[in-house]
Amino acid sequence: MTRAAEASIDLQALQYNLQRVRESAKNSRIISVIKANGYGHGLLRVASALSSSDAFAVAKIEEVLTLREAAFTQPILLLEGFSDAEELALLAQHDIDVVVHHQYQIDLLEQTSLHSKINVWLKIDTGMHRLGISLDDVSVNYKRLQACDNVAADIAVMTHFANADDHHDPRTSAQLKRFNSAIAEINAPRSLANSAAILKYSESHAEWVRPGIMLYGVSPFIKGLAAEENLKPVMTLSSKLIAINHYKKGNALGYGGSWRCPDDMPVGVVAIGYGDGYPRAARAGTPVLINDQRVPLIGRVSMDMICVDLRSQPFAVIGDRAVLWGEGLPVEEIAECAHTIPYELLCRVTERVRITEVE
Ligand SMILES: *Cc1c(COP(=O)(O)O)cnc(C)c1O
Repeated sequence: MTRAAEASIDLQALQYNLQRVRESAKNSRIISVIKANGYGHGLLRVASALSSSDAFAVAKIEEVLTLREAAFTQPILLLEGFSDAEELALLAQHDIDVVVHHQYQIDLLEQTSLHSKINVWLKIDTGMHRLGISLDDVSVNYKRLQACDNVAADIAVMTHFANADDHHDPRTSAQLKRFNSAIAEINAPRSLANSAAILKYSESHAEWVRPGIMLYGVSPFIKGLAAEENLKPVMTLSSKLIAINHYKKGNALGYGGSWRCPDDMPVGVVAIGYGDGYPRAARAGTPVLINDQRVPLIGRVSMDMICVDLRSQPFAVIGDRAVLWGEGLPVEEIAECAHTIPYELLCRVTERVRITEVE
């Protein structure tokens, strides 16, 4: 028997969404962000489907090496950069572009001897306050990089938005302004826009855009839905009904017994739980599709199972397919029911879920 829990990955939807990036930022080159195992969709699978991207970005050095070992020759940007001389040498050897976000990295660049020059993206903190050189230090650090023998000529500059997921938040324009004034004296390729900014802040597109979540067919906006942005969901997480039981009014379901049957009723058990990456925080009432019809989750999410209310589905039978999110059931909605964001749901799907591809 094959495992019931399955994540099917729609490769054409990935390519469709990449095309949406192209249409949205016509004059920019595209760095497809495929960190965290391609947002949970599989690093190499996503890289293959998106191989027409101008570049890739990942967060960890292991991901860089996996891509190079699999013979991806595109430029790859390492978003967290290097943290010691050994990593720096390894990255230079594999011709990886590195983000430089801190003085200590510039010190390392000056102190290490490399066999070949390395491409550098200087990250500027314009208000996110996580990684980046502060505004006042930009020009001195840029000059240091220019003077450094290990650094290749075309140094790029970048920043990251903290609030672009909210259309109306004025802090995004403020970040853009700070960025523009910090680089007023610098003539370098620029990169600012994540998915949200690609879709809503065309003034931030510049030479390179960095789409992540939109490639996977998910709205980057608070309370947004993929369909509103003409994006196609890539991952559909599904499983099967492995039991249908009839309980009496007042019976308590599952761990803690916090959910009680309001009626004599059929309860379906779906073979998926937090051990597969279905969020334990999903509240009672979170929708699940059984044979394309919505039914509510009831009781607590267990490690391997969830229960659903089948009163509206008297013809459901054991073996019927249950969709947890994806096609027909927006992951954005499930994230909201679980008090989290779609990013987290996608990259938390665990290894015991069988992955299938749809072409
Ligand atoms: C993850 C990430 C992105 C992509 O963000 P999305 O919101 O998924 O589009 C872009 N840039 C940086 C620096 C990131 O860390």
